[in-house]
Amino acid sequence: MKIEHVAIAARNNNESLKFWRDALGLKVKAIETVEEQGVHASMLQIGESHIELLEPVDEGSTVARFLEKRGPGIHHIAIHVDDINLMLERLKDFGVRLIDEEPRRGARDTLVAFVHPSSAGGVLVELVQYKEERTTS
Ligand code: ZN
Repeated sequence: MKIEHVAIAARNNNESLKFWRDALGLKVKAIETVEEQGVHASMLQIGESHIELLEPVDEGSTVARFLEKRGPGIHHIAIHVDDINLMLERLKDFGVRLIDEEPRRGARDTLVAFVHPSSAGGVLVELVQYKEERTTS
């Protein structure tokens, strides 16, 4: 496992890129709109992990509501797992509260599932599996 990315909610990704890309010098790896999550995502490479800037594209998205409530800042931490289904089963066995009982499509051809912050010390945790690594379904 590793930290796959740290996601930051932003009102405007282009504004945030002035720090992360221009000032800090990180390279933009991908820019994608994920309709399912109602976000415009900019992924920057940092070592073997990423910084993911999330800008809402619709008002009902969870990121839009997050911004409304708390303003810009760290939105979630994503942990890379080899087998997301296996991990979800494991977490269920431990009584962990899940937002997604089943994996769904994330950015960059990934499968993702969110763990409820109430089970993770107040942190929204995302599990990420790259699709080609999928071993169970
Ligand atoms: Zn994420």
